[in-house]
Amino acid sequence: MQLYSTNNRSHTVDLKEAVMNSLPPDNGLYMPVRIPQLSTNFIKNLSDYTFADLSFQVANNIIGSYIPKSKLEEIVHGAIDFPAPVVELTDSLGILELYHGPSLAFKDFGARFMARTMGYFNEQSSEELIILVATSGDTGGAVAAGFYNTPGIKVVILYPSGKVSPLQEKQLTTLGGNIEAIEIQGTFDDCQALVKKAFLDQELNDQIRLSSANSINIARLIPQSFYYFEAWKQFQKSGEALSFIVPSGNFGNLTAGLFAKKMGLPIKHMVAATNNNDIVPDYLSTGKYQPRPSVPTISNAMDVGAPSNFSRMMDLYGSTWNDVKGDIKGYSYSDANTRLAMKEVLAKYNYVMDPHGAVGYLAAIVYQKESIGTKSIILETAHPSKFLSEVETTLDKKIEVPERLAELKDKTKVAELMQVDYNAFSNYLKKNHA
Ligand SMILES: *Cc1c(COP(=O)(O)O)cnc(C)c1O
Repeated sequence: MQLYSTNNRSHTVDLKEAVMNSLPPDNGLYMPVRIPQLSTNFIKNLSDYTFADLSFQVANNIIGSYIPKSKLEEIVHGAIDFPAPVVELTDSLGILELYHGPSLAFKDFGARFMARTMGYFNEQSSEELIILVATSGDTGGAVAAGFYNTPGIKVVILYPSGKVSPLQEKQLTTLGGNIEAIEIQGTFDDCQALVKKAFLDQELNDQIRLSSANSINIARLIPQSFYYFEAWKQFQKSGEALSFIVPSGNFGNLTAGLFAKKMGLPIKHMVAATNNNDIVPDYLSTGKYQPRPSVPTISNAMDVGAPSNFSRMMDLYGSTWNDVKGDIKGYSYSDANTRLAMKEVLAKYNYVMDPHGAVGYLAAIVYQKESIGTKSIILETAHPSKFLSEVETTLDKKIEVPERLAELKDKTKVAELMQVDYNAFSNYLKKNHA
């Protein structure tokens, strides 16, 4: 598998370089040179495959012989070892639950696949690889769980003290083993600045092999295309095209759906559902892309003012607004409407949605009025218990917390407390990892 930079199509690298470096040096994003079509027979016979087996077929189609088949099968089966069930609200509207992984959010798929792929590429090196991650909450938990026990790789997570939820903090600080946490007495931006500085510090890089687990790494996108096939298998028996409603922030999830469409999955529309950070719906209606500072909402994993995968979406359509509009629809909603939607879904269907999924539900209702008769699936991106106080207050109801989240409460936090001080950070890395 070869990839090019969205800023320079003639700059191509192989999968290993794209995965280990995350970003091309020209600040573009890596895109596959080819996204081959799967056979129509495969699509027709999806129900003959388990989730893990169809995921392997999709991975093999896009990655090809670049990773030996038996190894790729091991990576996929290791990463995709929990289900992605579709719950039917009505005959024509389903909910794809993407929260059955260890950190209870869809980011588990990307993190687990990336960890195993990096682990494989790193096998060829005798030196330990240190992954640095700055997190404001969600990504860190998925990355920590995803990389836990990956041989040859250690993860150092920086998080802002007091600015992540207590359960999120436990997700970062209780695994131990190859996962280390540093509690920074500053903001998320401070954490990010420390990590950036470390990557640019030549003296440090001479002593330690550093890498990142960036959310725009191509190894996170590839596995996110798997569950579109899995959802289609469960909900679309007739073979007609379906539409997917994707609660979106950085638009990685939606872009992975566009990959699935390119590979031949019959998708009518990809529907972008956003909160008040409506940069993409705005682009779809005006043709103008106007990034702006993010505004805080109750669906905070989607509070993004400059969606990083926008350039990948543009790349897929040659930046032609008319073509983009043909395939992608966009809708945005306020917090007040999101809360009303959570209440409506509970009252009508006795189903508890988290605020991100509820934004998707609102978009689905409008979309299905505009595109009558189109079966649609909403991606439910996180378990409602991850946003416990918001969900319980809005629904006036106790929410059951899954065992793997609940049990974290009693585990002991281990973290290195640190000022915002680059010398302290680089000394920590040298002392523990050089
Ligand atoms: C990350 C996240 C999103 C946004 O996904 P993108 O791929 O960045 O668009 C939506 N919901 C939840 C719960 C998330 O954690």
